[in-house]
Amino acid sequence: MPTVETVRGPVDAAELGRTYMHEHIFVLSTDVQQNYPDEWGDEDARVDDAVAKLSALAASGVRTIVDPTVIGLGRYIPRIQQVADRVLDLHIVVATGCYTYRDVPFFFHHRTADVRAILGRAESEAMVPLFVGDITEGIAHTGVRAGMLKCAIDEPGLTPGVERVMRAVAKTHLATGCPVTVHTHPGTHQGLAVQRVMAEEGVDPSAVVLGHSGDTADVDHLSALVEAGFWLGMDRFGINLETTFEARADTVVELCRRGLADRMVLAHDAACYLDWLDPEARAFLPQWHYLHIEQEVLPYLRDHGVSEEQITTMLVDNPRRIFEGG
Ligand SMILES: [Zn+2]
Repeated sequence: MPTVETVRGPVDAAELGRTYMHEHIFVLSTDVQQNYPDEWGDEDARVDDAVAKLSALAASGVRTIVDPTVIGLGRYIPRIQQVADRVLDLHIVVATGCYTYRDVPFFFHHRTADVRAILGRAESEAMVPLFVGDITEGIAHTGVRAGMLKCAIDEPGLTPGVERVMRAVAKTHLATGCPVTVHTHPGTHQGLAVQRVMAEEGVDPSAVVLGHSGDTADVDHLSALVEAGFWLGMDRFGINLETTFEARADTVVELCRRGLADRMVLAHDAACYLDWLDPEARAFLPQWHYLHIEQEVLPYLRDHGVSEEQITTMLVDNPRRIFEGG
């Protein structure tokens, strides 16, 4: 029986239940927060707020979330442990990797393959042993092991920094078997760059979720990525600035009509607190919260011909299959 690492320990993949494959809890610019802490405010109040929001999510029937908050997004596992210990009916899978659209963090900038060769390090890429350790040993002495790998590619495309992270994630996957989620920008077809790099690294696309695929309504492009073997993350329900609720939902409806429910996973890419936005700007995104799929998306999908069986496939079976190894 394959197991999945969660914040409270390993869980049988068959026990994951309804799973949202891409939900953050806190997204923080850590060094900004450490110097300008007033907006964040009281730590205990933020944890209480997260416990309340995730308890409501669990009460809606969701049993598991995957939180792909990695380096670059303010990952801090002790705070996640505090939350997880108070929401016992929700499994939280955390991730390792690095989030950038352009350059590697300065920590890695001068830790090049050449320097590591001079120093006699066994692994030429400095990120790989760190990511592998997060998966096999645990993160920062918390004992919590990462269950997902994450990297990103956005409009700037496959910059040297983005490529370095993606290849490090690919090598870590090959060493550990841990599945991968990639932040993509489907409007500029960045999934094709992911396809090329993963193929060069020898990664089976069935281990890779192309996140944010629902940001486009180009179902032919998405169908081609499925044809290539990837999973589609329809994982930004509620972020309706450059698109609409209906456009996002209709894309899922059409892909289901094409028989591709067995290649999609759903989520909101929401957070309890994300410091990328002025808190008052959240008013522009009224549907961006953990309950939007249950309250609005699923009723819309049912009204437009998506069957209960297809919904279960997307929310329960596909996440399990991804953790079982594609
Ligand atoms: Zn995200």
